[in-house]
Amino acid sequence: PIGDVVLSAREIGVRYGGVVALADVSFDVHEGEIVGLIGPNGAGKTTFIDAISGFADARGTVALAGRTLDGRRAFRRSRAGLGRTFQGIDLYDDLSVRENVAVGTTASLHRGADRPPLDAAQMGRLFEVLHLDGVVDRPVRELSQGQRQLVSVARALAGRPKVVLLDEPAAGLDSTESIWLGHRLRAIRDAGTTIVLVDHDMDLVLDVCDRIVVLDLGTRIAIGTPAEIRSDSEVTRAYLGAT
Ligand code: ATP
Repeated sequence: PIGDVVLSAREIGVRYGGVVALADVSFDVHEGEIVGLIGPNGAGKTTFIDAISGFADARGTVALAGRTLDGRRAFRRSRAGLGRTFQGIDLYDDLSVRENVAVGTTASLHRGADRPPLDAAQMGRLFEVLHLDGVVDRPVRELSQGQRQLVSVARALAGRPKVVLLDEPAAGLDSTESIWLGHRLRAIRDAGTTIVLVDHDMDLVLDVCDRIVVLDLGTRIAIGTPAEIRSDSEVTRAYLGAT
């Protein structure tokens, strides 16, 4: 069931020198949703995640569960309940799955947070939900690409975010792994975490998302259900037709 607005982005704008990476992008994310954010290369998807999570200087207003995040640094946004992953996999290859995920529970990052990070029992359940429970003590270099992507996701979830922003979790996955990832993302959502999903894998995004936002050249060109996005002529022209 879709609930109240949990993340509100209003007129988010980012410039890099003379380049307008993002121009006044607004949309709301409701509790219990998976919202996809798609667009061609350079459309501004990662910039949007960076702006919302405090890794890029941005104009505009962001609120999480009704509280403004404006002017707050990245770690404070994390404490407020905003999780994220980074494009590409940023894992410690020789450390175990459990150790890699524990980075996400670093005490100083969560001091004074609304919700404390996961405890050991909750972490065990997270590994089950992500189907990583059989490999928690293996070094991540021994894992498949799909499992490695999920370790990154698990690290973000270990801080118990209200909303998690995922930057291309299907990168490097084949279609079987991507379908498997889709099931895991639904399970995460069903366990109570709202998801914003940036990805180029259109099959995954159309399959798993409740709503989709389309960016092109830093501007929001469409927003709607997967069916609406599929039949939107501007989207087809800007994006779907080009792939
Ligand atoms: P991709 O799908 O290729 O990851 P994207 O939609 O995530 O693309 P962004 O990476 O957000 O797009 O880039 C948006 C625009 O901002 C591009 O024109 C890009 O070149 C520019 N840009 C992004 N980061 C920087 C930066 N650190 N310095 C200068 N320009 C940047």
